[in-house]
Amino acid sequence: MGKIVMLTFDVERDCPPFAETKRGVEDGLPRVMNLLEEFGIKGTFLFTGRIAEEFPELARRAGKKHELGCHGLEHERFDRLSVREAESRLVKAKETLSQFGEVISFRAPNFQFPDEYYGILAKLGFKVDSTKAKHKGWRKGVAEFNGLLEVPATTTSIVTRLPWALQRSFHKRFESPVVYIFHPWEFVDMSKRLRPDCWFGTGRGALEKLRKLIEFHLGNGARFMTLKEFYEEYQKLKRTIG
Ligand SMILES: [Zn+2]
Repeated sequence: MGKIVMLTFDVERDCPPFAETKRGVEDGLPRVMNLLEEFGIKGTFLFTGRIAEEFPELARRAGKKHELGCHGLEHERFDRLSVREAESRLVKAKETLSQFGEVISFRAPNFQFPDEYYGILAKLGFKVDSTKAKHKGWRKGVAEFNGLLEVPATTTSIVTRLPWALQRSFHKRFESPVVYIFHPWEFVDMSKRLRPDCWFGTGRGALEKLRKLIEFHLGNGARFMTLKEFYEEYQKLKRTIG
């Protein structure tokens, strides 16, 4: 059986909090969506509420042709907010995003989301969280966690910016389901005045690498899914097994 592969994109301003520009969303995101649609593949686009407000056409396109998810209201660090503040921001983000599609998937900015706050997500109708990650110490793989289905990220976005010959061996080894994280700003040339992880491997070449990644997995019989599609399949499987 081929692997299940999920391409997820945290749609935010350029390399937050280090830049204030939105070139990634303006120029990178449409190119990424075009590429996926060319292959007939759906991605999961986790927008901040603010970016969706500013770029309603792109949020609508994500909601229609892909999956639209939530990446906070304005890329805040939830571990630095009180429960009340976290909830009020999540309510606003969910309200804003829901104008453009059904929103059930979430990933916290900077992979920071206190375990005690998951109840807020469940109450607001979120079903899937993809904040946990192996490189952040999560060892359980896909698991039901605090009322949501945790679908952990497989790797950091640095891996998919390495030269193709180097990153290829990683893709072979990653276990299914493979959850990749990308950001729109990786697909535009980021300034070298920023810290290295904001510009390393960014630019036009990133789109070519994404194309190679898709072709590599397709060639190995992978199935591309959104977080939501994965959630639905997980529920079905659970009912079958009982
Ligand atoms: Zn982010």
